[in-house]
Amino acid sequence: MAVYMEELDAFSYAQKIGEGAPVLIPAGSIEQHGPHMPLHVDTLLSRRMAGETAQRIGAIVAAPMAYGYKSQQRSGGGNHLPGTTSLDGALVTEIAKTLVLEFIRHGARAIGFVNGHFENYQFLYEGADLALRELGCAGEDVRVMLLSYWDFVDEATIGRLYPNGFTGWDLEHGGVLETSLMLHLHPEQVDMTKVVDAPPAELPNYDVLPVRPELTPDSGCLSSAAEATAEKGRILLETASAGMSEAITSEFGLISR
Ligand code: ZN
Ligand code: MN
Repeated sequence: MAVYMEELDAFSYAQKIGEGAPVLIPAGSIEQHGPHMPLHVDTLLSRRMAGETAQRIGAIVAAPMAYGYKSQQRSGGGNHLPGTTSLDGALVTEIAKTLVLEFIRHGARAIGFVNGHFENYQFLYEGADLALRELGCAGEDVRVMLLSYWDFVDEATIGRLYPNGFTGWDLEHGGVLETSLMLHLHPEQVDMTKVVDAPPAELPNYDVLPVRPELTPDSGCLSSAAEATAEKGRILLETASAGMSEAITSEFGLISR
């Protein structure tokens, strides 16, 4: 079943929207992911996570937000690094708001952002909030959800996949989570011989501007991907998409149409 909006013809798309299909908007980034992975990891993984979820619940996946908010040193290595190409927060907000309003114009009433880039979240939230505020009473039957896919990896799975301890999702930039998912979904885009196997980055518990580049590990990764495997990626995709499907079904099930 085709779930990706840009692969559908306009008439099939309109029919699905008319039948009440939720629209899931992947939100990614163009950001360095170490020497072993390409720049579009967040965009690719948010799109595939949304795709897997959409298959389960009969949703449509919107064309992704390919660029995201500025990479932060404590969660993405920082915006100073080569290749990392980011949008100002107001622009991410405006894009998120515009997309919500566009899908509502098409007839959608249930919209979810499937976030794949840590730093996007609050700007997606702001965009959704501004869209609903602008709609006012006209948006009374509209519901928007925000989900970051890693929040749907449960404790039991974390224990299984990180037997030597889990450092937190913020430090998972270019680490086991993303690398395993890429090994499962796009192994041809991963070069495990280039993984830098270093201990998790030790970053201060504050931010400083301009950044001090020496705080970011030379690899650009905040934790090691050495333990990444395609099998872990399969489990992560399965667990996160099942969890998101459940949350979306339960929230959007409340809508009376
Ligand atoms: Zn990433
Ligand atoms: Mn990211």
